[in-house]
Amino acid sequence: MIFKGNLFVLSGPSGVGKDAILERLLGLVPNLVKSVSFTTRPKRLGEVEGKSYYFTDEKTFKEMVEKGEFLEWAAVHGYLYGTPKRIIEEFVNKGVDVILKIDVQGGINVKKIYDKAILIFVLPPDFEELKRRLIGRETENLRDLEIRLKNAPLEISKISYYDYAVINDDLENAVDRVRSIIIAERHKLCREKIEYFLKLFGGEFNERT
Ligand code: ADP
Ligand code: 5GP
Repeated sequence: MIFKGNLFVLSGPSGVGKDAILERLLGLVPNLVKSVSFTTRPKRLGEVEGKSYYFTDEKTFKEMVEKGEFLEWAAVHGYLYGTPKRIIEEFVNKGVDVILKIDVQGGINVKKIYDKAILIFVLPPDFEELKRRLIGRETENLRDLEIRLKNAPLEISKISYYDYAVINDDLENAVDRVRSIIIAERHKLCREKIEYFLKLFGGEFNERT
């Protein structure tokens, strides 16, 4: 019996370590894929087309919006970002778990569309460390850096929409925390699973009282 895959969302302020966590996580957790978003943001040094993002221009992005090709999309830190719908549906229907690295607006929208989505928020140990990581990454110009730092408290203020919070103090520990959430969620019961077990072992469905 193949159950539908889970949809995980990983959000958190820019520079908190989402990509670093994801990179390690994907090598550790089988049956988990990352959704590759489309963006109008310029490619950073070292980023790979189709792996980091699909880099596109604003006209093409807006045409995709018109055609309904995104599960969700948002303007983030001055650029457009969108999650492609079809590929996610294909994976989830095949029983593969998908993780989306998207901003809080995107996370909230995904939960509205699909309430079974599991939302994980990554926090820095403190604001100074977030600043250090973002500056240390050396990928943004001063203007983009300031926008990202200014947006951090606004993003954190939406944490109540999320199901889990993970502090990324030590990277390996943070990866382990996210991995544990994924493993636990994979064992969560739902109506579909209960009915499968009852069919296998006999017995009738008992509504919780
Ligand atoms: P995000 O994807 O959230 O914008 P990144 O994954 O690019 O953030 O991480 C920002 C920077 O912080 C990178 O240089 C990364 O190597 C570093 N970093 C990530 N996690 C930690 C950590 N736990 N301790 C120290 N540095 C970290
Ligand atoms: P970055 O430019 O640093 O890669 O990403 C900036 C922000 O955009 C991050 O918070 C990231 O999670 C978010 N983001 C990336 N892809 C998407 C997407 O498809 N949709 C939304 N809503 N946000 C995204």
